[in-house]
Amino acid sequence: MSLKVAVIGAGWAGLAAAVRSVERGHAVHVFEASRQWGGRARRVALHPAGNAPLTLDNGQHILIGAYTATLGLMRQVGVSLESVLLPMPLDLRFADGTGLYTPAWARRWPTPLDTLASVIRASGWTWTDRWSFIQAARRWQRQGFQCLPEETVASLCEGVTQRVHEDLIEPLCVAALNTLAHHASGQVFLNVLRDALLGAGTPPWRSSQLLVPNADLGRLFPDAAVHWLLARGAQLHPGQRVSGLSRHGHQWRVITPSLDGTYDHVILATHPTAAAQMVSRLAESSATTWAWVASQLRHEAIATVYLQGDLPQGWPGQYPMLALRSRHAQEPAQFAFLHPGSSGSAARCSRSAQPRVALVASACRLDREALERAVCDQAQEQLGIRSPQVVKTLIEKQATFVCSPGLQRPTLQVAAGLTAAGDYIESPYPATLEAAVRSGLAAADWVEMHGHAAAEPAP
Ligand SMILES: Cc1cc2nc3c(=O)[nH]c(=O)nc-3n(C[C@H](O)[C@H](O)[C@H](O)COP(=O)(O)OP(=O)(O)OC[C@H]3O[C@@H](n4cnc5c(N)ncnc54)[C@H](O)[C@@H]3O)c2cc1C
Repeated sequence: MSLKVAVIGAGWAGLAAAVRSVERGHAVHVFEASRQWGGRARRVALHPAGNAPLTLDNGQHILIGAYTATLGLMRQVGVSLESVLLPMPLDLRFADGTGLYTPAWARRWPTPLDTLASVIRASGWTWTDRWSFIQAARRWQRQGFQCLPEETVASLCEGVTQRVHEDLIEPLCVAALNTLAHHASGQVFLNVLRDALLGAGTPPWRSSQLLVPNADLGRLFPDAAVHWLLARGAQLHPGQRVSGLSRHGHQWRVITPSLDGTYDHVILATHPTAAAQMVSRLAESSATTWAWVASQLRHEAIATVYLQGDLPQGWPGQYPMLALRSRHAQEPAQFAFLHPGSSGSAARCSRSAQPRVALVASACRLDREALERAVCDQAQEQLGIRSPQVVKTLIEKQATFVCSPGLQRPTLQVAAGLTAAGDYIESPYPATLEAAVRSGLAAADWVEMHGHAAAEPAP
């Protein structure tokens, strides 16, 4: 049966829900508060006075081969993955060449043998470091990648050396969970490791392969998704912030400043804070409980500082991504990326070039001024960038929820005829594109199975 479905919010979760709903034959309307598609993973166009327009991203993103739902959906809407993503082997080296990397001869080995090779070849690690990690990994594997709900990543990794903690655990944890190891959920960390090391990949890429965007985030998915939806008759409403929802007989009424319509089913795909506010105003007990759970999530920031400056020695890495030695306030950034707009690839970054570099500070609590000062110092010291100039600093204050042990996350179902989608919905994953896309697809599948608002009587 074809239903009239409203999707509220056009981040990656909302767009995924819309694509799947259209595919199922429903009449889909998408409402997006801003004029940009893509939510937290969007392109940002800047028009600096007196300078050429500039296209950046709201934040540097990386994907991995294990993001099967995201990569599958990108392909479905017509994105050529090979042209927008630059694959790199698992390589978490610092600018001085130390750290974990997969040697060329092991890149075709089956996972996790390739990872074992990278541990054995990790530069700057002693045999004690390597053995401590191998023992921990064997323990996790023996336990089926399961741990007690209250375990943190730090407690899970007791026994690994300080070096392994600094070179591998903390950078991986903060990149995947945006939460420091002492506060991060051990179980979610293990889920990510399990899928990255042992899970299915997305051909031609294996699960552990890092995929660095080679194009702006709009081109990665939102542009193609919007094109795909329009071509199939979906109604898209940018710049339409939904101010409220209410039951209307067997349907839902969706209210925006200039549109007012009724729908058989609503998929609420906003940030959890906005979703909790909207749902808390509904007079239904399941909705009240849901809103309370969503409102309890705490959030963590991610800051991206785009810099430009001289690189007299050239880009110090083989790939466009490098790990940085990080010490909270003094050295806040954990990763540096050579921006594709500046030279395209690390290999092509000439010594004389003034490339644009993005430095990413996850779980960042600094104010803008302190952050920019510290990041410029860090870029000079660790990357050899001379006279770095800040091009733009983007701080997303509520970038992700804090992924703490035993966290209760809201369910997909809110009330009859109303489901939620977003990276924060109950799932084995932390707040990532993959969690967002999976939740969007699942919300649309729910519509298929459970139909519309008629299941619950109007209050
Ligand atoms: C700086 C940064 C770096 C990141 N790095 C990575 C990474 O490397 N890898 C990774 O996998 N993930 C990363 N993430 C996380 C990833 O971006 C998010 O998990 C994902 O984008 C969340 O998508 P979403 O659709 O759930 O929510 P959102 O993107 O927040 O989408 C919600 C949408 O709803 C709209 N909206 C809100 N209120 C209303 C309303 N009332 N009416 C209509 N529309 C409304 C918003 O405008 C927005 O477009 C990063 C996030 C940030 C911020």
